[in-house]
Amino acid sequence: MDLDLVFLGTSGSVPTAKRGLAGTLLRRGGERILVDCGEGTQRQLLRSSVGLVELPEIFLTHYHADHYLGLPGMLKTFALRGREVPLTVYGPPGLKDLFEILRRVFGRLSYELKLVEFGPGDGVKRADFRIEAFAVEHGVSANGYALVEDLRPGRFDLESAKALGVPEGPLFGRLQAGESVQLSDGTSVGSDQVLGPARPGRKVVLAGDTRAAGSVLEAARDGDVLVHEATFSVEERERADETLHATATSAAELAKAAGVGLLALTHLSNRYFGPEIVREARAVFPETVVPKDFDIIDVRFPERGGPRLLKGGALGRHEEGVPHDKDGSGDRGGRPRGGGGDSDDPALRGDPVGARVGRRDASDGAR
Ligand SMILES: [Zn+2]
Ligand SMILES: [Zn+2]
Repeated sequence: MDLDLVFLGTSGSVPTAKRGLAGTLLRRGGERILVDCGEGTQRQLLRSSVGLVELPEIFLTHYHADHYLGLPGMLKTFALRGREVPLTVYGPPGLKDLFEILRRVFGRLSYELKLVEFGPGDGVKRADFRIEAFAVEHGVSANGYALVEDLRPGRFDLESAKALGVPEGPLFGRLQAGESVQLSDGTSVGSDQVLGPARPGRKVVLAGDTRAAGSVLEAARDGDVLVHEATFSVEERERADETLHATATSAAELAKAAGVGLLALTHLSNRYFGPEIVREARAVFPETVVPKDFDIIDVRFPERGGPRLLKGGALGRHEEGVPHDKDGSGDRGGRPRGGGGDSDDPALRGDPVGARVGRRDASDGAR
C-alpha cells in the first residue's frame, strides 16, 4: 500500500516567492486527505501532478489565517464545477463558528458540507488505519493529527510452509491473509504456523503549529515520519517561546526523544531559506529534511528502506521541464501548454531572492 505526503505549502504565516502557506496532502492507496488549507492551496494542487481533485476530507489544525484561508476559494471552485460528492471538514472546537463567517464568503455550494469538531483522543476510523487527533501547545484551539495504520500480518516464512508440505500457489496467499488451509493429504495448516508475529503499521504524524510539547512527543513516539514546524532558528528562541512556535533545535530534540524515522521541518519563517534550518536540526537529529513546496515524502515500510524525500516529486509536468527565456517570463507566444497550471513562474526556479529582496522583518511568528 503506497503512503506518501505531498508538501503543497511550507512557509509559516506569510508566503514567499518559493513557499506557499500550510497545506499537506496525505495519500494512502486511493485515500486523499488534506491537512490544512492555507491561501493558495488550490492553485498549488493545480500546479502539482496531483491536480485539484475532489478531496473528500480536509483536516484543519487550527484557525490562524495561514492555515485555512485557502478553503473558501477551494470550496467555491468545487461548487462552480458542480461537485456533488460530500466534503467533510474536521477541526478543533471553533470550526462551526469559523464557518458562520466563511459561509458569507463562499455562499451556496452544490454539495453537502459536513463540519466535525473534535479534539485530542478523538479520531476517524477507516478499514485498516485511523486518523487520531492529539494535543499541541500553540495557545489556541488546535489539534495535531496522526495517521496510524493497523497491525499488519507477520513475515511469511517460506521455509516453514514448504516443510509443512504446502505447495506453492494460491494456498500461500490464503495463509498470508491469515486463513487456515487444508492440504491434499487432509492435514490442515494454520497461518500461525507460517507467519511471524504481527508487525506494526506505519505512523505519520503532523503536528501543525506548536512549540515542542510533551503531547507531540507521545503522539510521535516511534513514528515513521514526524512533520513538525520550525518557524524559527535557535537564535530566536525567545521569540519562539513568546509565540508558541518551535525552533529547528527544539523540534529536532523532540524527534530524537520520540525515536522517529524521519523528521520533516516545515512552516519556516520568511527570514529563512531552508539550509540553515536543516543544518541546525541535523546537528541534533541527522534524519531531518526541510521539504520545499512540491516535494514528496514516500513513506516506505522499514523493510523496504523506510521514508525518503523525493525532491520536486509532485511538480506538474511542465513545471519541471520548460526552460525560461532570458527575462524569466517563459512566455513564447503566450500559448497555454495544456494541463492545469501556468508555465511561467520564474520564482519557481533559479535564484531564491526575487520577491524576498528588501525587508526581512515582515511578520512571522504572530500567527
Ligand atoms: Zn501558522
Ligand atoms: Zn498558528
